[in-house]
Amino acid sequence: MVIISKIFLCEFIMPIQSFIPPQRTLMGPGPSDVSPRVLSALARPTIGHLDPTFIGMMDEVKSLLQYAFQTQNTYTLAISAPGSAGMEACFVNLLTPEDTVVVCKNGVFGARMIENVQRIGAKVVVVEGEWGRAVDPQALEDTLKQTPQAKFVAFVHAETSTGALSDAKTLCEIARNHQCLTIVDAVTSLAGVELKVDDWGIDAIYSGSQKCLSCVPGMSPVSFSDQAAALIKNRKSTVQSWFLDQSLVMDYWSGQGKRSYHHTAPVNSLYALHESLVMLQNEGLENSWARHRAQHNKLASGFADLGLEFIVPAQERLPQLNAVHIPQGIDDAKVRQYLLNEYNLEIGAGLGGFSGTAWRIGLMGYAARSENVALCLAALKDALNQ
Ligand code: PLP
Repeated sequence: MVIISKIFLCEFIMPIQSFIPPQRTLMGPGPSDVSPRVLSALARPTIGHLDPTFIGMMDEVKSLLQYAFQTQNTYTLAISAPGSAGMEACFVNLLTPEDTVVVCKNGVFGARMIENVQRIGAKVVVVEGEWGRAVDPQALEDTLKQTPQAKFVAFVHAETSTGALSDAKTLCEIARNHQCLTIVDAVTSLAGVELKVDDWGIDAIYSGSQKCLSCVPGMSPVSFSDQAAALIKNRKSTVQSWFLDQSLVMDYWSGQGKRSYHHTAPVNSLYALHESLVMLQNEGLENSWARHRAQHNKLASGFADLGLEFIVPAQERLPQLNAVHIPQGIDDAKVRQYLLNEYNLEIGAGLGGFSGTAWRIGLMGYAARSENVALCLAALKDALNQ
């Protein structure tokens, strides 16, 4: 029997072949389309992660990230893991179980912040916000007045689950007036909308490589203010995560030829991140923000023609994540499948409370182009007519 089945396997089962992905246009909530320049940077020869040339490139990544975040923070680097690791790095390094954290929740990712705080064993006080709306600054102010022991305020700048943009500048100002440090999720906002870490006084911020930077997924840019970095350096208890312990990672990224091994950096992914940041620098940050806004305006006027309605009020809308109500009688899954099959176009489904009732259409980074807007509008029109 054994012999028969071996013969069967050899004759009838083909060896697994190389994986060739289809050529899609990515207009969902991320990952976004990666530019050919970034993809070709990814394919450059791998070198050692402690090679002096590579270390020089890491220093450039740091200064390019300082530009993208608009900060002079020394402690600005890219964590070798996706945005969720950046989120976790901020919470586990800054918080101890004795702390109280006010978390503003207006979507899925605010809820994840709460989970991070709870897992650390710290006390969380939630500012409940409406889904599809920005965080209400007055609600934060009221909560902080009633929570004098609060040490941190955390919120999501660009809520990818709903398409709402919160006023990070005002929220940080309120937090500062109550002597709180801020932890800000900029996974979807970085490079897509105005974001000024130093001017707004943000203490800890994390982002993702796969959204408006249009890099491959798997890297999380972070930045910590001097005050936040000092808190990490002087903390008495050991950070519960060895991999995300920033006092160790800091040494690895610190430069001046003193770099010591912590983990093997994702060498080629860092080439890709470097390239995407060079592209951002060449375009100019303000121009990148303006491009996202201009493409959003085109998309919005096309949606109006198609009778599609936005979930978020105009003044609180993210240009790079357009959440619309699915019209009555339209089958969500069928439309998305049609777009994928007929147009190789990916748009996003609703998440959490919006599951089955919303589409999330991303215009992030390299995807925020006129060709993509035109394709999306034509494809949606066809799908809705079918
Ligand atoms: N925060 C926000 C606002 C996000 O949109 C995402 C991902 O979509 C994350 C955090 C988590 O990032 P990642 O999926 O890269 O781990």
